[in-house]
Amino acid sequence: MSAENLVQLLYLVATGLFIMSLRWMSNPETARKGVFSGVAAMVLAVAGTLAGVITTGGTHYWWILAAFIAGSAVGYPLAQVPLTAVPQRTALSHAFGGLAAGLVGTGKFFLYYGQSNEEALAPYIVTALMLEILLGFLTFTGSLMAAGKLQELKWIPQRPVTYPGQNVINLGLFTLALALGVALVLNPLAAWAPLAFMLVMVLSLAFGVLLILPIGGADMPTVISILNAYAGLSAVAMGFVLNNKLLITAGALDGSSGLILSIIMCKAMNRSFTNVLFGAFGQTQQAAAGGEAKVYKSDTPESAAQIMAQADLVVIVPGYGMAVAQAQHRVRELYDQLKKRGVTVKFAIHPVAGRMPGHMNVLLAEAEIPYDDLVEMDEINGDLPQADVALIIGANDVVNPAARTDKTSPIYGMPIIDADKARTVFAIKRSKNPGFAGIENELYYLDKTFMLFGDAKVVVGELARQLAGEGGH
Ligand code: NDP
Repeated sequence: MSAENLVQLLYLVATGLFIMSLRWMSNPETARKGVFSGVAAMVLAVAGTLAGVITTGGTHYWWILAAFIAGSAVGYPLAQVPLTAVPQRTALSHAFGGLAAGLVGTGKFFLYYGQSNEEALAPYIVTALMLEILLGFLTFTGSLMAAGKLQELKWIPQRPVTYPGQNVINLGLFTLALALGVALVLNPLAAWAPLAFMLVMVLSLAFGVLLILPIGGADMPTVISILNAYAGLSAVAMGFVLNNKLLITAGALDGSSGLILSIIMCKAMNRSFTNVLFGAFGQTQQAAAGGEAKVYKSDTPESAAQIMAQADLVVIVPGYGMAVAQAQHRVRELYDQLKKRGVTVKFAIHPVAGRMPGHMNVLLAEAEIPYDDLVEMDEINGDLPQADVALIIGANDVVNPAARTDKTSPIYGMPIIDADKARTVFAIKRSKNPGFAGIENELYYLDKTFMLFGDAKVVVGELARQLAGEGGH
């Protein structure tokens, strides 16, 4: 087999593994296999590329080794972050992906320009180059901003930052970058071309920051997924520039999966793309949240445990608060205690509960709760009218009935878990504060609802203790 054929074979196997990886990752039971096949695909891709470099007489091995060491030095600690920091970790990965694409594009342009290589700077290649650096560099700064907002860095404002004419200014800068790009496609070897190229670079870097400024911290998971799509498209453009088929297919998979994920998230929140990107969500609703003080009924873990012990079916609705409190292991203890007493326990999984897709599945899987008991929203809603108890653990918006009835609500139309249809509702949260959307939740004022105020980890732990008969009375 010729060296070229070997490289193409490695690329082909890697492509197959990338596709299977996405397929397997769509189900919690096969997700681990999906991760391994993604890793294997990446190893084959790197091996194929190296084989290609070696067999075509490449000489820059030290540079490749240096990049390998630098990448591992950054990648290893990044992989050690706690689960709650995964969204910002993912944003950092996209930032590096975007930076890599941008730098490769820049390197290629200046190399060909220096050689006055007209053929290598053919219009379609320069078009791909311009797309690569535009998307690559804006993904770089945009993802850094997103990671900073998610990490709640003090010097990056969490609230949407808006000012008059913002969209016009952003659009103007973007149009300027595009116009310079077109000029470069037409005259790649002009004397002013390097300067124009650098300007496009600077504009793209600035555009990444400006794009993220008007978006609130809590919308960052959707934004990250959109940036994922940009990074993928940038890799596709890089594939055209380098004439590398694997980069084109892997980039296309990356780009389309990012896009599909953002569409799923927007649908589950009943928001449009433009509303996420330009809606400055989380800003206006705050004012309405102040309203008149209504009265909640609260209860003790002791009596809640007694009611749950007598139930046939308990539906647990986890939300962002369970993640904040890291209560999943206590939830597992509660699940075990209820099961011991013959109670059927199901978990109602809303597609956007928490702050990233699959957030609840990952946490509950960490606590080894059987996948069969994690039930998707549409299915569990059929069971809720028969449920004796709905136990809400740090969820708020995803159980807010206003989404069904209140046309003025910012979450109107968002599909919700019908916790209000259960016979009794217990809701664990620390205070009367609203959730992500910043709005009141009528569910908490219903006659059938009892609040269990406190940190989710503490309260769920107490419920489990009570059920285990360690209540201490
Ligand atoms: P919410 O943000 O609506 O509510 C979470 C609740 O948890 C808060 O009301 C808070 O109340 C409570 N809480 C916080 N910390 C604790 C703690 N330590 N112990 C107990 N309770 C706690 O979360 P949901 O999961 O219901 O909804 C997710 C929201 O995020 C939706 O609006 C969704 O659109 C949005 N979103 C989701 C994304 C995703 O991919 N999953 C992406 C982007 C947005 P208190 O402070 O009183 O304790």
